[in-house]
Amino acid sequence: MPQEKKNLKIWIDGQLLDKAQAKISVYDHGLLYGDGVFEGIRVYNGRIFACEQHIRRLYDSAKSIRLTIPLTPERFRAAMEQTIAANGFTDCYIRALITRGIGNLGLSPHRCNPSVVIIADLIELYPPELYEKGMAVITSSVARNHPNTISPRVKSLNYLNNILAKIEALDAGVPEAIMLNVDGNVAECTADNIFVLRDGRILTPSVVDGILEGITRATILSLCRQLGIPIFEQTLQRHDLYVADECFLTGTAAEVVSVTKIDGRVVGAGVPGPVTMRLAKAYHDYVRKAG
Ligand code: PMP
Repeated sequence: MPQEKKNLKIWIDGQLLDKAQAKISVYDHGLLYGDGVFEGIRVYNGRIFACEQHIRRLYDSAKSIRLTIPLTPERFRAAMEQTIAANGFTDCYIRALITRGIGNLGLSPHRCNPSVVIIADLIELYPPELYEKGMAVITSSVARNHPNTISPRVKSLNYLNNILAKIEALDAGVPEAIMLNVDGNVAECTADNIFVLRDGRILTPSVVDGILEGITRATILSLCRQLGIPIFEQTLQRHDLYVADECFLTGTAAEVVSVTKIDGRVVGAGVPGPVTMRLAKAYHDYVRKAG
């Protein structure tokens, strides 16, 4: 695990509080119902990576669930920068969340005033050795939410759909699960998007397959175009996973991680493939340069 930072300061509704004092009411609908939205963002070399894209997705998520964020996007960015500076980080992970706020015990959000929480801390999604040797995953029996339930495009505080798939993976002794949509096509992992390589072409499910439009995914799409690696967004079946030459996952917390086994089928040579390694390096170089 990354080293725990002492005296962490957490931003809640305009105040920077000590971690032990940073608390939310048990009547907050974020806790009672998972009613709210969030973002996971990384800071590299003192700069918030893809800040505009993350803020845009946060405000889009909020709009979709009829939640008004009580800050302008400019003020939101300033609050994140203030939190990073207060903790003296140059590289960290930011968890920004908007809860529906304190209400009564019914579902109606009408009396709630949203709260904003910004945490800057360290994160490690998978053990470091998995980045060297790749990881085994399973496909989950838990279908990814249908877009007409709560859309996977909304980064809501209710992650139970993903958590159930994650538990299934851990029960099977692997760190991650691939979630299929209700039609049985590949969607994404519990907190990552998925890509496969076959015959020199990279393929990844498209937004209509029921995915979060990952910001790391968008970065990989554009890096592939710059590097001349053919990449296509298309519907994938489980079989496409089983016959892939390479497979990798992307996410803000995960970055780029290779998958070397899926449901017991070895992917390619069973080690991180050359295209995955090339893209992982390109990604790491890019995030440290980009603003
Ligand atoms: N899918 C899900 C369900 C996620 O939670 C995440 C993490 N935010 C991703 C994909 C990857 O998105 P991003 O690259 O923007 O972190």
